[in-house]
Amino acid sequence: MIFAIGEVLIDVIAKEEGPLKDVKSFEKHPGGAPANVAVGIARLGISSALISKVGRDPFGEFLIEKLREESVNTSYISVDEEKHTGIVFVQLIGAKPEFILYDGVAYFNLKKEDVDYSFTQNAEILHFGSVLFAREPSRGTAFDVLKEAKGKVPLSYDVNIRLDLWRGREDEMLRDLEKGLKLADIVKIGDGELAFLEERGINLEDFDFKLVAITKGSEGSELIHNNINVNVPAYDVRPVDTTGAGDAFMAALLTSLHYLGKLESLKLKREELLTIGRFANLVAALSTLKRGAWSVPTVDELKKYEEGRKVLL
Ligand code: ATP
Repeated sequence: MIFAIGEVLIDVIAKEEGPLKDVKSFEKHPGGAPANVAVGIARLGISSALISKVGRDPFGEFLIEKLREESVNTSYISVDEEKHTGIVFVQLIGAKPEFILYDGVAYFNLKKEDVDYSFTQNAEILHFGSVLFAREPSRGTAFDVLKEAKGKVPLSYDVNIRLDLWRGREDEMLRDLEKGLKLADIVKIGDGELAFLEERGINLEDFDFKLVAITKGSEGSELIHNNINVNVPAYDVRPVDTTGAGDAFMAALLTSLHYLGKLESLKLKREELLTIGRFANLVAALSTLKRGAWSVPTVDELKKYEEGRKVLL
């Protein structure tokens, strides 16, 4: 089973154009990057579980119900008796999202005692992001879980830099991102985020990763493993909504490592690296043809494509 730890929340998405200040109507969707990745993995045919926390409220019930419908194991999600389920209001203005993320919610209140640490016995991999690092007690819990899992389970990290979350505390954010990078075996990062880190003196070459994936939007992706470096052009599509393309890419990357039997060793030949990059680009591109963050295609849909069959058959 592939595990993800992190936020699961309600994306409250504006139904009209314009700044959030003026929007009158919204639509509720399940979201949160690690939850999106867990759903993507399950759609791609591999068991997945999410370690998180929701509130004892209708939104928490909704999220658990939706995750179960997607066959994600929800038994590692605890229920907070006091804090409400996480919620974020989102508006896409051009390519740039404007968002209001609520504080004091259940996933930021994830405590060590909420986590069943025996998950490491069932986990093929543990995937994480940066959001839990932005508040306590979730930051302490996340690092504790990651340290506990390190060496037992490969760790996968989607860096996903959201400076607004740290409310301008950039030094603190960089310190936590570096801590995450030091623990990670697999890293996914957007090219813009990579440039942001390099400008601040953080270079990926200084860490000991087994696999790095740099995503470049419509330009595709670059995969780096030991001394092998491959550039994989994007799959040519006309996107309808690119929300969650990065999460779809992440889910496909981890799933393809599983199907190729490489999750444990993380030793890859150039041809395998290309196969993984092409598969992840295909899954991410197809996910942009549907609206919303849970738009990963199914195994049957993917088998229609050569890049899909190479991994799934
Ligand atoms: P986030 O979803 O957090 O923005 P990200 O920055 O990793 O994540 P992108 O780099 O925009 O996301 O996209 C991830 C992958 O999705 C790309 O590597 C590419 O394979 C695919 N993708 C994104 N945009 C397009 C596009 N316009 N056409 C084809 N593929 C795309």
